[in-house]
Amino acid sequence: MQLPLYVKKTIQQLNANGFECYVVGGCVRDSLLDATPSDWDMCTNALPQAVMATFDDAQCIPTGLQHGTVTLIQEGHPLEITTYRTEGNYTDARHPDEVHFVSNLRKDLARRDFTINAMAYHPEEGIVDPFGGRRDLQSQLLQCVGVPAERFREDALRILRGLRFSSVLGFSLEEQTKRALINEAEGLVRVANERVREELDRLLLGKNVAAVLTEFSSVMAVVIPELQKTIGFVQHNQYHDKGVYEHTVAAVAQSAEKLTVRLALLLHDLGKPFTFSLDANGCGHFYSHTAVSEKLAVGVLKRLRYDNKTSERVQTLVRYHDVVLSNDPACVKRWLNRLGEDGFRELLQVKEADCRAQAALVSEPRLEELSQISLLLDRIVEEKSCFSLKDLAVSGKDVLALGIPAGKRVGEILNDLLGQVIEGTLPNDRECLLKVIEKTT
Ligand code: ATP
Ligand code: MG
Repeated sequence: MQLPLYVKKTIQQLNANGFECYVVGGCVRDSLLDATPSDWDMCTNALPQAVMATFDDAQCIPTGLQHGTVTLIQEGHPLEITTYRTEGNYTDARHPDEVHFVSNLRKDLARRDFTINAMAYHPEEGIVDPFGGRRDLQSQLLQCVGVPAERFREDALRILRGLRFSSVLGFSLEEQTKRALINEAEGLVRVANERVREELDRLLLGKNVAAVLTEFSSVMAVVIPELQKTIGFVQHNQYHDKGVYEHTVAAVAQSAEKLTVRLALLLHDLGKPFTFSLDANGCGHFYSHTAVSEKLAVGVLKRLRYDNKTSERVQTLVRYHDVVLSNDPACVKRWLNRLGEDGFRELLQVKEADCRAQAALVSEPRLEELSQISLLLDRIVEEKSCFSLKDLAVSGKDVLALGIPAGKRVGEILNDLLGQVIEGTLPNDRECLLKVIEKTT
C-alpha cells in the first residue's frame, strides 16, 4: 500500500511518542481496490488530548472531541485522527449517545459496519484484518462485521450504506447480511434525513444502480415511500413495456451520471399511479401525471433536505420531462431562455433516458429527434445566437431613453422583442429594434 508522505509522517510522530497509529477504514479498502482514497482516516490508542499534545496547537482542530476525533492539518492536508472506540446506541439516529474509548485496535475495527471497511494498515506491520475484509474484497462481497440484524438495529443507516457500496463497487450482499438488511429496513425511517440523503446520492450515481434499485425496491420504498405505489404498477400502454417502477429504474440507470438528472428520473413518474385511467380500448393513460409527480417530488426533496439549487433544478426537470420539443431553432431558443443552457441540456438528458426506458417501437424515432435537437442546441450556442434578454441588442436603458417611463412596461417591451427575435420575425439588430420600440410608443 502506498501512503502519502504526510500520512507516514503522522504515524511516525505518534509512534515516536509511544502511541499506536494506523490508517483505517475506507482508505484501506480503496487502496486494496487500486482506487484513490478520498481521505486518509487514522486511528490511535492516544486520547484526543495526547494527540493534540503530539502536534503543534496550530495544526490541531478539536472537531469531535467527545467522539474522540481531532483533525490534524499536516503539511496543508486535513487528517482525521480518532481514538479507538466503541459506540453506544444511536437514539437520535444521528450520533451515538456515548462512545467508549477502548485500548485495542481490534475492538475499534469490530464497531465498523462491513468487513471491507474494518481493516487497518501500518507501514511496518502491514494490514490488520481480523474479520476477513481481504477475502470479501476478493469475492466482491458485502458482509457485516458481527450479527447483521444487530448491526442494522444499532444504526439503520448501515442498511443504506450497504446498498450504496453495492451500487458503487458492484459488490453483492452476503446472504445473511442481505436478509437482515431487508428485514430491518423499517429502521431507516428513524435515521436523520441528511444522512439518508448523502448515501442515496452516492447510490444513485453508482455503476450497479439498476441491480440495487431492482433487488431492494422494498428498502427504497422505506427511504422514499412515494415510490411504493409505482412498484409493480402495470401501464397498459403500447409505449411502455415495463411497469412504472421498472421503467423508472431503467431510466435512472441509462442516464448521464449527474445527480440532478438521476434524481429527476427517480421521481419523474411518481404521479402515475394517482392519475391512471383506462380508455374504452383498454389502453392506459396518465393525464396530468407530471403535475402530480412534481408535487410529490417537491415533498421528497424537502424532506430529504436537498439544497435549494438542486431542488429547484430537479423540480423543473420533473415538471417538463414530458413536454414535446421540436427540432426547430425557435423552439430550442425558447427553452434555452426558460431553462438556461445547463438546464436545457439536463432536460434533454432526462428525456433521452426516459425514452430509452420505453418500448423500442416508440423510442427509436424519438431518440433520433432528440439527438437532432441536441446538435441544433450545440450550433445555437456556438453561434452565440440571441435567446435571452442579456443577448438582445437593446436594453432597458434604450427603452427608457426613448421616453418610456420606468416600470413594468419596459420589461414587457423587451420580452416582446426577444420573443420576435427568437421566432425569427425580427433580426437582433440594434437600429432595427430601436425603430420598433419607437413605433410602439
Ligand atoms: P467513503 O469515504 O468512500 O465515503 P468510507 O467507508 O470511508 O467511504 P466514511 O463515512 O468516510 O465512509 O467512514 C469511514 C469509516 O468509518 C468506514 O470505512 C467504516 O469503517 C466506518 N463507518 C462509517 N460509518 C459507519 C457506520 N454508520 N457504522 C459503522 N461504521 C461506520
Ligand atoms: Mg472515508
